[in-house]
Amino acid sequence: MSYNPFAVAQTQIDKAAKALGLDESTQQLLRVPQREYVFTLPVRLDNGKVKIFQAFRVQYNTARGPAKGGIRWHPDETIDTVRALAAWMTWKTSVVDIPLGGGKGGVICDPKTMSEGEKERLARAYVRAVSREIGITKDVPAPDVYTTGQIMAWMMDEYETIMQEHHPGVITGKPLALGGSLGRGDATARGGIYTVREAANAYGIALKGEAMAVQGFGNAGQFAALLGEKLLGLKLVAACDSQIGIYNKNGISAKEIVDYKLSKGTLKGFKGGKEIASNEVLEVKCTVLFPAALENSINEKNAQRVDCKISCELANGPTTPEGDVILDKKSVVVIPDYLANAGGVTVSYFEQCQNAQNYYWTETQVHERLDQKMTAAFKAVHETSVKKKINLRDAAYLVSIARVAEAVKLRGWV
Ligand code: GLU
Repeated sequence: MSYNPFAVAQTQIDKAAKALGLDESTQQLLRVPQREYVFTLPVRLDNGKVKIFQAFRVQYNTARGPAKGGIRWHPDETIDTVRALAAWMTWKTSVVDIPLGGGKGGVICDPKTMSEGEKERLARAYVRAVSREIGITKDVPAPDVYTTGQIMAWMMDEYETIMQEHHPGVITGKPLALGGSLGRGDATARGGIYTVREAANAYGIALKGEAMAVQGFGNAGQFAALLGEKLLGLKLVAACDSQIGIYNKNGISAKEIVDYKLSKGTLKGFKGGKEIASNEVLEVKCTVLFPAALENSINEKNAQRVDCKISCELANGPTTPEGDVILDKKSVVVIPDYLANAGGVTVSYFEQCQNAQNYYWTETQVHERLDQKMTAAFKAVHETSVKKKINLRDAAYLVSIARVAEAVKLRGWV
C-alpha cells in the first residue's frame, strides 16, 4: 500500500482521542478538515504557453484562532499531503499555545525548473484565487517547502492590491523590509535546538562535542547545523540534500558546508568529507539526528538502523507510525515534528503581533520569547510523558488535541 500522510495523521488523532476519552463527535470533527479549496491556476510561462497548475488550501481547524500554515510548492503535492500538514499545523499551534488554528496550502509544480517571472505569476495567481478566503482574521499563509520570503512578498502585494489597503499580517515569513520579523529566518531550527537542549537536560544526555547528523539541507537543515554547533557545541558529522550525503567522523564545518550549498545549490562536490548516499545520513551514529527533509523518511525499512540518542524532527511527518514503534523500542528520544519544528510558526505569530502593533521587536526579544514558548511547550509535553508513561509524541498529541478539543467544546460545536 502506498504511503498516505493523511491516513497517518488520522491514525494519530484516533489514538490520542482514545487516550483522552474524547466523545465520538469531537473525534469525528478533529479527524477531518473544516474547509478545503481546490483550484486551477492558468499561468503564462516565459515561452508564451499557458500552463495549468493545480493548487490547494486546507483550513483544518479554526477553533483556537485563524488558520495558520505554509504553502508548499512541490511536484509530488497531493490534497492528502496538504490535509495531513494542515492537521499537523493545528496540533503545532496548539502545543506551543499560540492563539491560532491550523491550515496548509500547496501547488503541484516544480519550482526548480521555473524562472523568477513564472514564480511571481504563480504566486499572484494563487492569491487571486484565495483572496476572499485568507486574511488576518481567517487564514494566514507562510513559507514552506520551496516557497521563500520573496514569494511571500509577491503574495502580500497581490492581496494588498486587491484590498487597496495595507495588510502586512495577511502572510508571514516576509522579508524584513516588508514587515517581516527579525529572527524568522532561523526560527524553525532555533526552536528545535531549544527543544534538544531541554530534552538533553530531561534525559541526562551530554551534547558538548557530540556528533549530529542533518538529513535535508534546506532552511531548517542548514540552520540546525549552524546553531547545533554554535548553541549546543555539537559536531556536524553528516549532512545530505536530496541528491547526495557527506560524511566525516572528525567533523564538518557547518559554515563551510552551508556556504557551499548556498553558492552551488547542491552538496555534490563538497570536499569536507566523503560522499555517501542521502539516505545513509539517517543511519550515521550520532547523538542528535535532525530529520529535516520530507515526510516518510524513517519507516519500517530503515528505522532499525537509525543510530542516535535524540531525533529532533524538523521536517513535518518524517517518521511513519511503523518507524516510530521501532525507534521507541530502541529508546530513541524522539522530539515529535510539530513540537520540534514549531519555532517557525511561533515566530510567524510574533511577526503577526508586530504587524498588528506596527511596532517591531529586537532580535534578542524574538529569541527570548521563542525560547520561553519552546521551553514551556517541551516541559508540558515531557511532564505528560512522565505522568502517563508514554513517549513524547504520544504525550504531545494528548497536550495539543486536548486544547483543541476544549476550544471546540467551549464554542458549542460538539
Ligand atoms: N511552514 C512552517 C511549518 O510547517 C511555518 C508555518 C507558518 O509559519 O505559518 O510550521
